[in-house]
Amino acid sequence: MTATATRVLVLNSGSSSVKYQLLDMKPDPVGGSTAGTRLAVGLVERIGEETSRLAHTPLATGGDKRETEGPIADHEAALKAVAAELSADGLGLDSPQLAAIGHRVVHGGLKFTAPTVIDDAVLKEIERLVPVAPLHNPANITGIRTAQALRPDLPQVAVFDTAFHTTMPEYAARYAIDVETADAHRIRRYGFHGTSHAYVSRKTAELLGKDPSEVNVIVLHLGNGASASAVAGGRCVDTSMGLTPLEGLVMGTRSGDIDPAVTFHLKRVAGMSEDDVDVLLNKKSGLVGLCGDNDMREIRRRIDEGDERARLAFDIYIHRLKKYIGAYTAVLGRVDAVAFTAGVGENAAPVRAAAVAGLEEMGLAVDADLNAVRSGEPRLISPEYARVAVAVVPTDEELEIAQQTYALVNA
Ligand code: AMP
Repeated sequence: MTATATRVLVLNSGSSSVKYQLLDMKPDPVGGSTAGTRLAVGLVERIGEETSRLAHTPLATGGDKRETEGPIADHEAALKAVAAELSADGLGLDSPQLAAIGHRVVHGGLKFTAPTVIDDAVLKEIERLVPVAPLHNPANITGIRTAQALRPDLPQVAVFDTAFHTTMPEYAARYAIDVETADAHRIRRYGFHGTSHAYVSRKTAELLGKDPSEVNVIVLHLGNGASASAVAGGRCVDTSMGLTPLEGLVMGTRSGDIDPAVTFHLKRVAGMSEDDVDVLLNKKSGLVGLCGDNDMREIRRRIDEGDERARLAFDIYIHRLKKYIGAYTAVLGRVDAVAFTAGVGENAAPVRAAAVAGLEEMGLAVDADLNAVRSGEPRLISPEYARVAVAVVPTDEELEIAQQTYALVNA
């Protein structure tokens, strides 16, 4: 890598999509650290369909968003299309300024506790984890292979969703099932959204003017997928997602916690197949299963119109959230802050207010005026008297991936 190579391309490859950002990580000449400047952002959707769509915004040139529609057959074609868009703005993948490509990889098992430069052995291990992440790791592998083919000389770095959670103590990570069976099949709680939990817990400490090692934070990542984590002094000690991203909070389309016997019942009594149950719990449950909508904006609108099903869905969502706040308060012993993040957490003031309502005895409260403020900046929404700070901290997984990638290739 040359001294002038300060750009990082971040790739988040899903089963039928690729999200990307090109960032410049040039250190600030004054402060020495880098906030990361976004040069271009974009998304390829519906890969493999006739109606694939590429939306690209060249922030570096101040150009408008460009959208193209038409068939993009596979991830390789998608990445080539992205590369062409970047080239059109003079930001091509062949640029000597590109230092590395950072890949979001969902499942890193127990082996990957930190960002890792990808070689054949690393790629093999990510492949070995496909049985525990069948929806996600294959897409990540395709993204890595395609990027390697485009720039074989460039360091490719994997940043794992699970890595931040590998510090969980054994008693939090293990399920109470037969140890031999669990170990034989690598069944344990891994946790996900780790890049977001890492970033947001660190930013929350910054907001409090403290070092991450000094604060205990409950992070509530509430997006379409949702997870909570208990972070003690910068280290994750518990998180709500488990072997897969199905466990824990009520989500847009996923059930979260459920009695495992429900699955036997659905098979034995309702005659559903394994795949039917999988689809039911992952795609047709959560908010969408309860009321038909998974967008919190729509649910709030329906509640305002007196819709009972939407109200019940909201109440179930909040009840689960409260249970996790309570549980993680007990796990941490002392809580300095509760941080809301992701689509719902950053935008839905009624969710934040309802989640801490009635928890004054636990030192939690929300100031109605502060909670109503809309902003893209990290901010406190608790009144001054509250013992526990309540914060809204916009997450930035791409920046976190770029920072970790850049730090690793510069080490
Ligand atoms: P994410 O997965 O983090 O992109 O979050 C997506 C979810 O955020 C959507 O499904 C909505 O439920 C929610 N969301 C986005 N914007 C708003 C908003 N302005 N108010 C309430 N909820 C929102």
